[in-house]
Amino acid sequence: MLKAEAYGLGAARAATALAQAGARVFFTATLGEALSVRQALGDGPQILVLNGPSENDVALFTPARIAPVLNSLAQIKLWDGRGPAALHIDTGMNRLGIGPEELAQAASLLKGSSLVSVMSHLACGGDLGHAFNETQRVRFVDAASLFPNAPLSLAATAGALMGPSFHFDLIRPGIGLYGSGGLDAGNPTLAAAAKIEAPILQVRDAAAGETFGYGAAFTAPRPMRTATVAIGYADGFLRALGQRGYGFFAGAKRPILGRISMDLTIVDVTGCAEAQPGAMVEFLGPNAPLDEVAQLAGTAPYEILTTFAGTVRRGGAA
Ligand SMILES: *Cc1c(COP(=O)(O)O)cnc(C)c1O
Repeated sequence: MLKAEAYGLGAARAATALAQAGARVFFTATLGEALSVRQALGDGPQILVLNGPSENDVALFTPARIAPVLNSLAQIKLWDGRGPAALHIDTGMNRLGIGPEELAQAASLLKGSSLVSVMSHLACGGDLGHAFNETQRVRFVDAASLFPNAPLSLAATAGALMGPSFHFDLIRPGIGLYGSGGLDAGNPTLAAAAKIEAPILQVRDAAAGETFGYGAAFTAPRPMRTATVAIGYADGFLRALGQRGYGFFAGAKRPILGRISMDLTIVDVTGCAEAQPGAMVEFLGPNAPLDEVAQLAGTAPYEILTTFAGTVRRGGAA
């Protein structure tokens, strides 16, 4: 899964690494992403566009050997059998896909076309024990019986963790490739795929009672040494991590003091002789795990990765 430019990591780079690891089927959200993935991978791998074709771009798929996911009767008619396509069946997510009342018509419109996959998506995959997962699985099997020869695909990362009955012919892992198990709680520990670090700009010694940053939101309870680091919410480092998050430096978690500024963050480096201007502090990576950072920020790992995307500036945070 390479949507959102591979969850912020860069579609071309991620696609190349995943192809080298053996992946042969790639999904993007948009045709633009798919075209850059095709350029990176060359011929061979299958590339599918989740959002499907629109009037404006329907003619551009076949020349680039890109297949759309058809999500509605309107998209099936628009595509009009121009080439291979996947079909998305809605089994309860109510987001994209052919609903139960449209299935028969979809099957008759698609008679004779080549379906590279029939897929659906789980609404509650993040909760492995949620009863709705099995409900959707049964609905999917029923609906897919109308398309007897197509390979089937239901599971994203979390679905892949549910076991073989959810795997069918193709799983579609996204976040699992980029460092999180995709579960609401109790994630397995996966290797970090992204690392965010930023340099210390200044080290300061503060007396007890001094306050830090906007709103004077943190007061030193005792004499402290602090480091001002070149990362802020303009880099995608969520402001919600103020007072809650940490930077990892010199073997320990260094709490963030006060509010995160647009380009700056203050961390506690009391007693840490290694804290010097230019030294790098890690805010996401092997020592600042994605799932933990997301939890501290009160959001999902997906948002942590995609918020950094495109905002991390060369020469600043890297
Ligand atoms: C995003 C998405 C996935 C991948 O989900 P992860 O939880 O990141 O593994 C799979 N299928 C569809 C349709 C998606 O939108």
